[in-house]
Amino acid sequence: MIKIRKISGESPGPGQMETLRSLALSLGADEAVVLPVSEILLDPRVRYKCMVPKCYMSGACSHCPPLGWSLDEIREILSRHDQAVFFQVRVPSRVIAAKGIAAWINSGDLDSTGRVLSLGAHYLLVFSIVKLLQKKTRDMGFASAMGFAAGNCKDALCHFQPLCGEIQGTGCRHPDLSSPSMESCGMDVFSMAARQGWVVFPIGGTCVPESVGHGTLMGLVPVGPGAGEDETGEEETALPSAGLLERARAARASAPARLKSARMSLAAIHQAGFTPRIFLAMSPEARVWARFNRNLRLLTGSWAGAVAKTASMFSGRPRKE
Ligand code: SF4
Repeated sequence: MIKIRKISGESPGPGQMETLRSLALSLGADEAVVLPVSEILLDPRVRYKCMVPKCYMSGACSHCPPLGWSLDEIREILSRHDQAVFFQVRVPSRVIAAKGIAAWINSGDLDSTGRVLSLGAHYLLVFSIVKLLQKKTRDMGFASAMGFAAGNCKDALCHFQPLCGEIQGTGCRHPDLSSPSMESCGMDVFSMAARQGWVVFPIGGTCVPESVGHGTLMGLVPVGPGAGEDETGEEETALPSAGLLERARAARASAPARLKSARMSLAAIHQAGFTPRIFLAMSPEARVWARFNRNLRLLTGSWAGAVAKTASMFSGRPRKE
């Protein structure tokens, strides 16, 4: 199957950027603005903050410093774009500053109050908004070579896996959702937010829900003229679908491997402390989970795809066998 997409060689106009900004809000962002790429602040100290003192995720996710993209590479990529949509998703303080949440996250376990998973839902929402904005940008004929989310994708997307797939050499498990964070690429996110007049509370280990108004996760999608090397169109080819018989044979052959993988995933989920009661505990954040699932449906094209994608995020291996 060949899909032809018209590529615009022109820069996006104000109306088109407003379309993208409004889309960010309808996908679940609490605030969104359009800014020129010249207002994206890069500062090498931001990347060093991930390493000194060393964050528990430093070097454990392919996007996290000292891994990931250098400032020079980010500067070069941004220079190929004109403008960007900068957005924020607010997190209730009862979630982001919950007692002991940093220790739970560092240990890789889930708490019975559902706060870790509820926080994860907000991060997942940011990842999905970034990807949908990039998709819309390309559908409009413009380019967005790279999007930027918040936090690390290991905790949010590969929580039940012992290692990042990129680091273990098997490739990223979720390229359709994963993006580097703004801060891992050296963007001074707090100063950028302050310039927009957004109220941002730094959240530290000593915070309690009463000491901060809310948490803020931010994302950024640069937008520029369509790729210069192909100004007339772009071809997307899909693999021809296998015949029913071949697919049935392949499913039968892989059944034992799938069963083994399902058993390991259940063991990993159990080891992390997941219980059905956590679902009930997460009910105050049901709105965020619902919005994220609607975004997944938009990304995958169907509810079946959204369910399969969610299931893939719950697959894994126990850390201690
Ligand atoms: S989504 Fe998973 S495999 Fe991909 S970069 Fe993030 S941690 Fe690694």
